[in-house]
Amino acid sequence: MPPSLLQRLPLPLWPPPAATAAPAASARCPFCSSDEDVEHLFLRYTGVATIWHAFGLDEQQIASLPQLEGVWDIPPPGQPATPRVWHTILLAVMWNIWKRRNNKVFNSVDDPASLVLQRCASDIDLCSHRCKNAESKQQLRNWASYLYVTIS
Ligand SMILES: [Zn+2]
Repeated sequence: MPPSLLQRLPLPLWPPPAATAAPAASARCPFCSSDEDVEHLFLRYTGVATIWHAFGLDEQQIASLPQLEGVWDIPPPGQPATPRVWHTILLAVMWNIWKRRNNKVFNSVDDPASLVLQRCASDIDLCSHRCKNAESKQQLRNWASYLYVTIS
């Protein structure tokens, strides 16, 4: 079908849905318009380094995705934690970085790193309530308290 004929189609058939949906399907970072891949999402977003530093990770540990993956296998650099507690904490961080990104994409809201850290602390504290192992429960509470103190 020639374009001229397409353009004479009654709305809403023209423009086609794919054309109007293009911005939402973009792979651009909502913060800086670079390509948004996994490494950019978790390590390059504006303010995301501040979030990782609050958990005791240094520049080297968040320099690339393979290095961040390696962090799952090391003892936590800050408060003590069993591997399972440490993994719960890392998941809370990633979950809240993801939620920050979505708040920007869907609500145009720029959450500061301090708010993301507060949400991490809140989620970690929440996890402690479901934790049946006394040592792990205490470690989660300690991490939450440590973060609350760091933020304030
Ligand atoms: Zn970006």
